[in-house]
Amino acid sequence: MNLSMIGNYLKAKWSKGITGKRIDVTTKDIRLLSCFGDGENIKVCPGLRPSSLKMGKFICGECGCGDKPSVFLNGENDEYTKLDHPYLACPRHMPGFSDYSPSNSTGGPDERKVQIEVLIDGVDPYIIKPTQESISVDKKCPECEQRRKEIEDEAAKNKTLGMDDAGAIEAAKKAVKEKYKHHKTGCSSCAKNKQLKEEARKEALAIGYSGNDLETEITRLFKHKLNQSK
Ligand code: SF4
Repeated sequence: MNLSMIGNYLKAKWSKGITGKRIDVTTKDIRLLSCFGDGENIKVCPGLRPSSLKMGKFICGECGCGDKPSVFLNGENDEYTKLDHPYLACPRHMPGFSDYSPSNSTGGPDERKVQIEVLIDGVDPYIIKPTQESISVDKKCPECEQRRKEIEDEAAKNKTLGMDDAGAIEAAKKAVKEKYKHHKTGCSSCAKNKQLKEEARKEALAIGYSGNDLETEITRLFKHKLNQSK
């Protein structure tokens, strides 16, 4: 693994955060298309390799991450796979990845890339190239870092009491939120994020989204707004 590969690996890991953040479903679908093709006209990526560790699993043979469960590109139902990381680089800079470069900006022709670009024409550019810069904004806020640390500690405590991972994190988030409910944050990044999220929620509700779709749409709109505000 060279230095840039290590950097990309660490960025992907950090983007997951302690709460296991996932990329939105549309971006994941585009990544799946980039790696696995569509089973018809778009062939599988030449960089794709079957895992020798587990039958039926696939890995990227070009990113230098090796062959282990945490880098499998496909998984069962709700399993967190490599393609779920909010930030993820691709050695071929394919659509859906954070270092995507359009086919017209690269040297030689890449037929697969062009085919995918035709299919996703009109999709929000941030969905096609999720750079996840908001993570670095959050990292700079000491108050957010403090709360993140408290959630982490609380979740670890909950797990020792026998809670499963998801339940432990959920309960920890609730407890820390309760603790700070009267606390006014001085962090301008957080205030801006809160305002953008509120705007995104209103827009998604006005369009008619509800349930899980509502949360997905809020996340998509929020990322789009955040990206535009930079
Ligand atoms: S090179 Fe990119 S598109 Fe191909 S398998 Fe690796 S991550 Fe997927």
